[in-house]
Formats: sequence, structure tokens, C-alpha cells
Amino acid sequence: MVLADLGSKVALALRKMTQATVIDQTVMNEMLSEICKALLQADVNVAQVKHLREQVKRNVDVEALAGGLNKRKMLEQAVCNELCAMLDPGKEPYQPKKKQPNVIMFVGLQGCGKTTTCTKYAYMYKRKGFKCALVCADTFRAGAFDQLKQNATKAKIPFYGSYTETDPAQIAAEGVQKFKDEGYEIIIVDTSGRHMQEEALFEEMEQVAQLTQPDDVVFVMDSSIGQAAHEQATAFKSKVAVGSVIITKLDGHAKGGGALSAVAATGAPITNIGTGEHIEDFEEFEVKSFVSRMLGKGNIAGLMEKMKAADVDLEKQAPEMMKRLQSGQWTLRDMREQFQAVLKMGPLGNIMNQFPGMSGLDFHESGVRIKKWMTMMDSMTEAELDETKSFAPSRIVRIARGSGHHPQEVVELLEQFKLMQTTMQKTMKKNKKMGKGQMDL
Ligand code: GDP
Repeated sequence: MVLADLGSKVALALRKMTQATVIDQTVMNEMLSEICKALLQADVNVAQVKHLREQVKRNVDVEALAGGLNKRKMLEQAVCNELCAMLDPGKEPYQPKKKQPNVIMFVGLQGCGKTTTCTKYAYMYKRKGFKCALVCADTFRAGAFDQLKQNATKAKIPFYGSYTETDPAQIAAEGVQKFKDEGYEIIIVDTSGRHMQEEALFEEMEQVAQLTQPDDVVFVMDSSIGQAAHEQATAFKSKVAVGSVIITKLDGHAKGGGALSAVAATGAPITNIGTGEHIEDFEEFEVKSFVSRMLGKGNIAGLMEKMKAADVDLEKQAPEMMKRLQSGQWTLRDMREQFQAVLKMGPLGNIMNQFPGMSGLDFHESGVRIKKWMTMMDSMTEAELDETKSFAPSRIVRIARGSGHHPQEVVELLEQFKLMQTTMQKTMKKNKKMGKGQMDL
């Protein structure tokens, strides 16, 4: 994921500040220049990059702050806050309600991944216990109905469409009514996507909206469209009441920043992101977790959520590990157990990239890395696996030799362990403070 590049560049710029003995205007300006350059390279809208720079400068006046204050931490926090603000329009997305019909209309340009996303969305809500159905109101693209039919059948979700009817608004209205009568709770209407210049596309969208009266309009945007994202988002927003945004193909080589930042133009929150072609490659979007993961800090809460979805119950399967974690005694052995559990789960929505330090890697890359670490841990003694502190260099060299790796790679494994240990303990502490005696699952 090229977004990981952006994340690591921003993280690097922030880390560089640590090397400066005094944090002054020059150091701050250098850091901000590097971050802005990285954002622009990732296609983030120019005006927003400028805004981020100004906001950080306004909020942290390094020259006026008294010595002794942790200016570096304050700047880091200010940058994180601005990145979050950029992705968060400050509005809650529509929450479908049970025991009533929720009509959700999907809009977006052709090829953005709309039809695929409709099924992913239905599947996600089906797993949450909603009764879901799909309506194909795309009469423009030959094969659109067949594609939706195929996806829906695979996911065992009822669908409605027509090979003969040519009026999309008519089909949409009929499908929605049929599923309403049958007591469906989430009725998804997939509309036709064409090219932005086509006035007819927007007219059709308005007609479908008028006849189906959707509770939410989801705008689907391809993350690879770069700077054009802003114009596209603005155009859709001006024609239909976009209430939620879904960004697709964030697994690919797209820079992604354009689409992500264009969300501001819709004023609607991102609810999900598409991270692959498979039905499970769909993540719920939470701004803070996303920014934290992008900056390589991992997303333990997201990881736990996914393990839960896959029926991996850590409390049941590894009660000892949970106990040690709660008492701050998380060891290399525990990390190995966790890696084993995750490897067993297979390519479940790229779960591994939720580990701190592993963001941006695809399933294959993170799997290779984890397997390499597992061989190194196999070369450790029992006592070493229970170690929670640092290793002497002679031990590092021994483990490297025993597992056929370079000592630097063992050092990387130990760094990964430290990072995970700290993040795990921080999450535990936070949950304890919030009155939860266990992991926030
Ligand atoms: P539509 O024309 O907007 O309905 O787009 P489709 O749903 O037909 O998707 C176009 C292509 O994008 C298909 O090949 C999909 O498999 C692919 N696609 C959709 N979402 C994603 C995603 O999140 N990641 C990847 N890699 N491909 C996706």
C-alpha cells in the first residue's frame, strides 16, 4: 500500500525531531516541510496541506512555550490531530436500525468498485445480524445485473433486478418495495456509474433517489484517482445527499491521499475502506485508528475486533496469556502464540497489518516476515522465550546463527517485540482505567 509510504515519511519526519537538542522554529519548519511534501506526493489536496501546516503552527508556538515542556510530543500530537481532522468531517454516519427497512443507495463512477462494495456492505451487515438484500438499478452497463447476481449468490444474499426493464428508477422502486414488504432491514440499491461528464448519470441518480427515498446515500470512491478526487466528490455532493463515503482499493498501489482528503468536500464521514477484491476485504473506518496505523503505531483494537469476528477468543484460548498481559508480563512466548493464532486464521482481511510496525504490508509480505520471526524464536531457549527484557549481543548472534539469519534481523524481531509489548500494555492500562478489566474486544 503506497499510503504506508506516506505514513512512514510522516513518522520519519516526526522522529527526526528527536535528534534535535532544542526544538525551535527552524526544527519545526523543517519537520512541517517534510510532512507537507509527503502529503503532496500522496496526492492530498494542496489547500488541505497548507491548512495542516498553518494549524500546527497556530496551535504550537514553539518559541513562546516554556522550556521543559515536551515540545516534541506537543508537535507530534498536533500533527496527528490535524491528520485526523482532515479525515473527519465531524459528523456521525447513518446507523442502520434493526426491525425497520433501511434503504441505502450506492453511487459512484464506473469502475470505482461500487458493485463489489455493495455486496461487501451487505455481507458486513448480514454478519451483524441484519436481514439484507440487494437491488440492481444499473441498466446501463451490460452485465451489471449478472455481476451483482453472482456476488450476491456467493454471499447468500437475496437480490432483485431485471434483464428487460430499461428504467433504472422503476427497477429500484420495485425492488425496494418488494424487500420492504418481505421485512428486509437493509436494502441496498446499486445504481449505474458512468463518466462524470454525462449529465444523464446524475439525472438518473436523482430519479432513483426520488423514487426510493434512501435513508443514506453512500458515495464510493476509488483511491487511485489522485488529485481528480476533489472535483469528483464535489460533483456528486452537489447532486445527491451523500451521507457516507467508502474508499476502495486501498490495498493497491494507489497513493490514496487524494481520495481520503477529498472526503472533506462531501462533508460526509468515511464509514469503510475496501482493501481487496474479496468480500472480506472490507474494514470499518475509524479515523484515529487509521491515522495511528498509517503512522506505524498499529491498531490493537482493530486487531482484536478482527480476531473476534473470526471467532478467535483469546480469553478462552489463551487465558494464561491474557493474565500475563494484564499483569504487564507479556513475553516473546506470548508474541509467538499470537502470531501462530493469526497465521492459522489465513488471509482474513489482511489482519496482520494491524500489528504495530506492520502497517502497509500485504498478507503475503507480513506472513513472510512473521514466519521468519517464528524461525528465530524457534532458535531461542525456553528461558529466552520468557524474557521480557533486553538480550546480550552474544545471544543475538547465537540466535541469528541458529536460525540462519543476520543478527540485525534478530534485533528487528526484538524491536518488534518491544513495540508490541508497549502497545499491548498501554491498551490494557487504558481499558483498566475505563473500568474494563480486560481487552477492549
Ligand atoms: P463498479 O463499476 O463501480 O460497479 O465496479 P466493480 O465493483 O465492478 O469493480 C471494478 C473492479 O475493481 C473489479 O475488478 C473489482 O474486483 C475491483 N475492486 C473493487 N473493490 C476493490 C478493492 O477494494 N480492492 C481491489 N484491489 N480491487 C477492488
